[in-house]
Amino acid sequence: MSITTSICIGCSVCINECNYNVLSLSEEKAEVVDRGACNACGKCEDACPTGAINVYTVIDLEDY
Ligand code: SF4
Ligand code: SF4
Repeated sequence: MSITTSICIGCSVCINECNYNVLSLSEEKAEVVDRGACNACGKCEDACPTGAINVYTVIDLEDY
């Protein structure tokens, strides 16, 4: 999972969508605080208005 903080507007939509407390807001940017709790459901990515979240990234695929 990756979050492109440069296009994150700090709306918290992703945090509210996640049922597993994976994400948090820090200095008005979303960040991953518990990667291990993520089940890759994709709700955060789907809900993000700016497309800042990419649940599957090439670098992270081996995590799932
Ligand atoms: S993919 Fe699902 S479980 Fe993982 S951070 Fe997003 S909403 Fe939470
Ligand atoms: S939904 Fe997108 S823009 Fe909003 S806080 Fe999360 S990553 Fe940032």
